[in-house]
Amino acid sequence: MNTWFSELQTHNVSLGLKIEDVLWREKTPYQELAVLQTEAYGRMLVLDGAIQTTSLDEFVYHEMIAHVPLLLHPNPRKVAVIGGGDGGAIREILQHTGIEEAHLIEIDERVVDASKRFFPDIAKGLQDDRTHVHFTDGIAWVKQARNFDVILVDSTDPVGPAEGLFVPEFYQSIYDALSEDGIMVAQSESPFLEPDIIQRVINGVSQAFPVTRLYLASVPTYPSGLWSFTLGAKKALQLPRQVPLKTRYWTPEIQKSCFHLPVFVEELIR
Ligand code: SAM
Repeated sequence: MNTWFSELQTHNVSLGLKIEDVLWREKTPYQELAVLQTEAYGRMLVLDGAIQTTSLDEFVYHEMIAHVPLLLHPNPRKVAVIGGGDGGAIREILQHTGIEEAHLIEIDERVVDASKRFFPDIAKGLQDDRTHVHFTDGIAWVKQARNFDVILVDSTDPVGPAEGLFVPEFYQSIYDALSEDGIMVAQSESPFLEPDIIQRVINGVSQAFPVTRLYLASVPTYPSGLWSFTLGAKKALQLPRQVPLKTRYWTPEIQKSCFHLPVFVEELIR
């Protein structure tokens, strides 16, 4: 089989992956969902033509979106993930022994079903007793949420249902939903290919939060391979706590070094 999947990452950049099999395809009420078997990256979840996660590199994104903020919070017990229907962020959150409640707020139930079926290792935290899954729009849900210690925005790109996850009002709702030491992180796209989105997220988060920081990680299947996360905190950040974690990308050194930004990224967010 000489079939290639091509993700149009911007209007003039695409990533091509050789496909061994199409494992699943459906049109959900929200998006086109596909699970493809790739030769290089294993299984891959695709929504509306955009790569969400692959078996080979998923650990980078999921470890970095979860552990970095959780270790900067003094005592995270109640955590929410908005989006994140594959379950990878929840899996990492549950490694932290103090977690009492991990809420997943995913608009599309079919993403969770597909992940449980085709990515059991990524989705394994979704069956945990501490996990509560809500199939609803994260924008409306967060308006009534209160007393969360950490909220992660693990969203698709800012189009369709995710558009409202990239606006200042949404970050203000997250601020209101967090307890006094609260911390949020939102995935904020690539500094090479989507600099305007990073600026939009940083500006929006800093309108609501007194402390705003950007950090980076390498995710090969995301546009350009260099990915950013924007963190907002209600209080000055303390040194990260030290807890035992089973990871493949995150280390205590990366916890610190990920906040050291290349010059061009510093200039972008200045
Ligand atoms: N890590 C991935 C990335 O950066 O591309 C995102 C993974 S996760 C599969 C993204 C999820 O966000 C999708 O399953 C999508 O259905 C969900 N989503 C999009 N808009 C949403 C909204 N308004 N409320 C809740 N979930 C939403």
